Amino acid sequence: MKIGVLALQGAVREHVQLLEQAGATAVAVKRAEQLRDLDGLVIPGGESTTIGKLMREYQLTEPVLKMHREGKPIFGTCAGLILIAKRVEGLDEPHLGLMDITVKRNAFGRQRESFEAALNIEEIGDNFQAVFIRAPYIEQAGPGVKVLATVDGKIVAAREGTLLGAAFHPELTDDLRFHAYFVKMVQESMVTKVNL
Ligand code: GLN
Repeated sequence: MKIGVLALQGAVREHVQLLEQAGATAVAVKRAEQLRDLDGLVIPGGESTTIGKLMREYQLTEPVLKMHREGKPIFGTCAGLILIAKRVEGLDEPHLGLMDITVKRNAFGRQRESFEAALNIEEIGDNFQAVFIRAPYIEQAGPGVKVLATVDGKIVAAREGTLLGAAFHPELTDDLRFHAYFVKMVQESMVTKVNL
């Protein structure tokens, strides 16, 4: 199993390390042809406007959409969550427009620009130390979206089929559980394909 980490911006190495510790082969990817033989993709945090612009410049948008159509799981963290959302508050056009959610950027305000919170995450486990940095939250989620975690009543982690999103940075702790959950999603997607 090979999982790519989009290496345009953000904590790429940390994602690669955690995916490897969770049992996957992980590679940093920046070119369209590198996406072809992947079984899953992580889109890290950073600045969503910049990552979106670089994705368009490097012609990565269509190949990532193709991965999604082929049933390959995609995991967006922080800016990555904004990139996979179908609706972004204040933007006319979404970036990849995949997950049936509306996200609000920099949503926790100045007082809580960056903070940590111990989360109980459905399907993943309790007491997950989550690092939030100018984080978005999910304002609205469609009926097919499973909410995995909230902070102050705001949705900060969710799954819709092969899409996984977190408003925080699970790669900035040494807790493997979120990445292990994604690796399992990728494994399951591969089994499904074999059975088709
Ligand atoms: N505030 C950033 C954005 O809107 C996301 C922050 C992050 O990825 N840590 O793109």
